[in-house]
Amino acid sequence: MKTPFVTLEQLQAITAQYPTPFHLYDEKGIRENARRLRAAFAWNPGFKEYFAVKATPNPAILKILREEGCGTDCSSLTELMMSDRCGFQGSEIMFSSNDTPAEEFVLADRLGATINLDDFTHIDFLQETIGHIPQKISCRYNPGGTFSIGASKEGFQVMDNPGEAKYGFTRAQLTEGFRKLKAMGAKCFGIHAFLASNTLSNEYYPTLAGILFQTAVELKEETGCEITFINLSGGVGVPYKPDQPANDIAAIGEGVRRKFEEILVPAGMGNVAIFTELGRFMLAPYGCLVTRATHEKHTYKEYIGVDACAANLMRPAMYGAYHHITVMGKENAPCDHKYDVTGSLCENNDKFAIDRMLPKIDKGDLLVIHDTGAHGFSMGYNYNGRLRSAEVLLQSDGSTRLIRRAETPDDYFATLIW
Ligand SMILES: *Cc1c(COP(=O)(O)O)cnc(C)c1O
Repeated sequence: MKTPFVTLEQLQAITAQYPTPFHLYDEKGIRENARRLRAAFAWNPGFKEYFAVKATPNPAILKILREEGCGTDCSSLTELMMSDRCGFQGSEIMFSSNDTPAEEFVLADRLGATINLDDFTHIDFLQETIGHIPQKISCRYNPGGTFSIGASKEGFQVMDNPGEAKYGFTRAQLTEGFRKLKAMGAKCFGIHAFLASNTLSNEYYPTLAGILFQTAVELKEETGCEITFINLSGGVGVPYKPDQPANDIAAIGEGVRRKFEEILVPAGMGNVAIFTELGRFMLAPYGCLVTRATHEKHTYKEYIGVDACAANLMRPAMYGAYHHITVMGKENAPCDHKYDVTGSLCENNDKFAIDRMLPKIDKGDLLVIHDTGAHGFSMGYNYNGRLRSAEVLLQSDGSTRLIRRAETPDDYFATLIW
């Protein structure tokens, strides 16, 4: 059973102030979860979570996470700019991008961000672009082949098949790259890998850590480079379905610690810092899309039309992703109606649920679409001229704050040249 982090009463008050649809975030949940993550890795003095900004690019969220000790992981110019404007400085910013435009390396370097190179050829490109190689540098590793720990069907579409993924250096390129970077002036090195997305297994991070720790030991032997951090990146998942077990972050941290003791400590590398770049795990469960039933349609199937659409939450349309739906006020009613819950786009994949058993829905009912706190709003788009929704923060004291206003037609027209 999945329970929304707001009550019907609270939502009625919130929707009186902010019209649906909107994404709502739970500050208390975000903070508590961030603290659980920190506690799980407290054994590693250098540990830092660099929140993947692309998951939830909102200054209010970033500032909460900064207060909880997180940095940011950026992959684009605007994400770097947002981090800068939110007060993240220097080593609080990781820049993990790919197919990187020159201007982004320039800004990352100017901000003192840690640059995580995606490709061997980016070494020369970086040198040509910014005129030097930073003292601290990271390389992204792609071991190739396949990787199946904790993989979800949807995860497979996102990642999980390193040999088919566009990211990272091959193993041989890592050795060559470290040698080259060292010769060009780099002093401390990191390695990074992201092998599977939305994993539901306490084994993903420990397994990845085992691979990266072993690789780090080899690289140190082969190149003499000093490896100061290892970045496990994102990929720890959340249970979107009510019957799925949640990851246990304490067990995950302990699993990584064991690999650390087993591989790095005996190699004299016990001072390596562990970094993570979690997005989904940090935010997904602590956001929801609040929408209202506006139409019902009875044809070959039973449809409920809502005022949100795939432009507000793309995951179901894009990956066939499951997002749980609670019909507010009917939590205990029998789920004896089979519905497709749809948005208004002229695309038949604009369905938040297909053949979902739900309580009888009446026009005007408030629906909470769960787990939209990461890769939800941020994947939004303007197809059909639909406008992006507002984002509202439910603060720890129970009050609400608008943290992004809804787009208006003026925003939509602002870039047009008539
Ligand atoms: C998307 C991304 C993340 C975050 O992934 P999650 O699955 O949300 O944890 C982390 N690092 C990089 C480089 C990414 O592209």
